[in-house]
Amino acid sequence: MTRILLEDVTVLTLDRRKPLLERQRILIDGGVIAAVARRVDAPLEARRIDCSGMIAMPGLVNAHSHLTEILQRSFRDNLPMEIWRGERARTEERARLGPEEISAAAELACAEMLKSGVTAVVDHFSTRPGLSVPKMEAILSAFERTGIRGVLVPSVRDRDFVRMASLPANRRKERTEPEPWREEVQEIIGRLRRGRSLSGLMLGPSSPLNCSDGLLREVAAMAQRLDLGIHTHLLETRLQSWAAARLYPGTLCGHLAKLGFLSSRLSAAHGVWLTDREIDLLAASGASVVHNPASNLKLGSGIAPVAKLRNRGVNVALGTDGGDTSDTYSIFEQMKLAACLSRVAGTNPDDWVTAEDALAMGTVNGAEAIPAWRGKIGRIKSGYRADLVLLKPGLRLRPLTDPVRQLVFSAGGGDAVHTVLVDGKIVLEAGRLTGVDENALSRRIEPLGKKMYRLYRLERNKRDRSQSAAALLYRRLNREKRAPL
Ligand SMILES: [Zn+2]
Repeated sequence: MTRILLEDVTVLTLDRRKPLLERQRILIDGGVIAAVARRVDAPLEARRIDCSGMIAMPGLVNAHSHLTEILQRSFRDNLPMEIWRGERARTEERARLGPEEISAAAELACAEMLKSGVTAVVDHFSTRPGLSVPKMEAILSAFERTGIRGVLVPSVRDRDFVRMASLPANRRKERTEPEPWREEVQEIIGRLRRGRSLSGLMLGPSSPLNCSDGLLREVAAMAQRLDLGIHTHLLETRLQSWAAARLYPGTLCGHLAKLGFLSSRLSAAHGVWLTDREIDLLAASGASVVHNPASNLKLGSGIAPVAKLRNRGVNVALGTDGGDTSDTYSIFEQMKLAACLSRVAGTNPDDWVTAEDALAMGTVNGAEAIPAWRGKIGRIKSGYRADLVLLKPGLRLRPLTDPVRQLVFSAGGGDAVHTVLVDGKIVLEAGRLTGVDENALSRRIEPLGKKMYRLYRLERNKRDRSQSAAALLYRRLNREKRAPL
């Protein structure tokens, strides 16, 4: 295993008392950070990298995303989520993407992330029509080719909450439409465990509203039995909040707590419409929330109650959501948005997300949200896996006076990312990906993007039953003049 010695580097510690350590050496041995200090003796055969003028920061963690949605990047504009999602799903349904195409899409998203300093990603993978082992393997192979640390979360659901909640209570019967996932997921888990892969798997109900109680109970039990994390969307939109109130009078999270679904295994994306009582339940359970500010803004979903979550002790991480809703996979962008949005969400400056807070949310909090990564990545510290980013400050960071603040407020998508290591392996060197031929990847992706766009044009402006119901409900909710955010 390669030993690497990073010499003369400024280390971003995420420690408030001493956020920066200058003229450090970092010794990486067998994928692990073996030492961080002014003086470190390295074996003669260690590869030495002169990092003078560079800053080492922990790799960024994208704790909620959908990689294949990159194929529909920027297709849609002013539509609420439930209508948006219907168009995307039907476009995918027509495209019938095969493993090759899925893998190319995931590789593009992973390549983009590595180049902007994201070293670990959670891919909440939904695919139409239906999940299969080759499709999941296609995502894993993209993780492996690019060298990113990835967790695959196959999305499962067995009902449509919009159609269900729009019916009056006396006509509402649980009608489930199960999709295959159990054997497929177990096969992938077996493969990952046999191969001692860098990649992992978590269970991923699409959202509790789209799952029957039976499915949620089964997921919680399987996670316990196989020691897996669980990832889901939670109360992302106003329509979901309305539906949750109709379907679960004692609050959705209250219902989930009764099912045994809330625990430290769980990371829940969005949480925009959580009530105070639900935030308390999440805090008590040890679950994490993943804030996706770009997606929430673009879809008009609202602003997540980040200050309340943090004040009650909930771990808040960051995610980009899919490439079609937030347009990029940049965590630098989410850090800046999270910091700025917090100032619109509340007037008390003590509650605002500072640059230090945002950096923690984009790194160590992301690691804490994922059981397999907890305590292993997210910091540059002896004993942690060597997932780190070397930044070479360019013009956007000049004059360089306060790197912590400037990285959040002026780095803009990681212009300064120079070299990236994942598990001690160099995956980006001086701006060039080591595992990806960018030109060849672009040549594979362009015709695929054109195919998707052609199919999307056939589907846009059409409404299926679920979308028509959602449009009607949004009109009603807007008339009720509930607070827009
Ligand atoms: Zn999502």
